[in-house]
Amino acid sequence: MSRLEEDITWLNSLNYTVQELEPFRGKRVLISGGGNSAVDWVNELVPIAAHVTVVHRRDNFGGHEKNIVRMKESAADVLTPYELTQLYSGNGKTIERVTITHTESGESRELEIDEVIVNHGLKSDFTGIKDWGLDMDDWNIFVSPRLETNLPGIFGAGDFANFESKLNLIAGAFTDAALALNSTKRYLDPEAPRMAYVSSHNERFKERNKMLGVSVE
Ligand SMILES: Cc1cc2nc3c(=O)[nH]c(=O)nc-3n(C[C@H](O)[C@H](O)[C@H](O)COP(=O)(O)OP(=O)(O)OC[C@H]3O[C@@H](n4cnc5c(N)ncnc54)[C@H](O)[C@@H]3O)c2cc1C
Repeated sequence: MSRLEEDITWLNSLNYTVQELEPFRGKRVLISGGGNSAVDWVNELVPIAAHVTVVHRRDNFGGHEKNIVRMKESAADVLTPYELTQLYSGNGKTIERVTITHTESGESRELEIDEVIVNHGLKSDFTGIKDWGLDMDDWNIFVSPRLETNLPGIFGAGDFANFESKLNLIAGAFTDAALALNSTKRYLDPEAPRMAYVSSHNERFKERNKMLGVSVE
């Protein structure tokens, strides 16, 4: 897609992000991609758009299972393994049709499309962090169950921190953050209690609870 992208970035019906749903109402939308973003936008747009087609270069989608099932059961056309290979515009402003190509057979098809959404994922860029000597690959920094990296005093939390029981969800990122902070506290003060400080231990909350007549023991 790189040459194609350079040539047509001025098209206002080529979307790399979805800011609002309303512009897609009643339109024929093609979504290119196979991760969470692509799957979520298919599910959001099916009830709004005239028609949604999703093309993905692999047969398997990488999003959450429940949402993939919902997408496959929806009115969307799910075409795999296909790639978006050409966009056509008669007026130079909006897309009129596209070519998609089967990645194995090379067979091409043309589809009449008004809006294209490109969800090809993220480019990971660790910039200077790559030079720190951390145990890492292109996407992950490997941490212990206590969120310690291989470098003493450096901890990781969230999607880029990888360990055996990692949960790449918002709840997982919050849990990582609490664990990493607790580990940092114990790194700075090895005598500190293992138990993290909870809000019911906080003097301010105790005062507030007294005012509210709540008893917390
Ligand atoms: C499309 C999609 C749908 C999802 N749906 C769900 C869902 O329904 N439920 C769920 O629980 N999880 C979902 N997830 C997963 C969830 O979003 C992530 O697990 C969670 O956001 C991870 O949090 P994080 O803080 O580690 O990373 P992020 O939320 O990615 O935050 C990282 C932040 O760091 C910033 N950043 C990056 N590099 C730099 C830099 N060099 N300097 C400064 N800032 C930088 C980024 O801009 C970003 O704001 C979904 C993910 C995707 C992609």
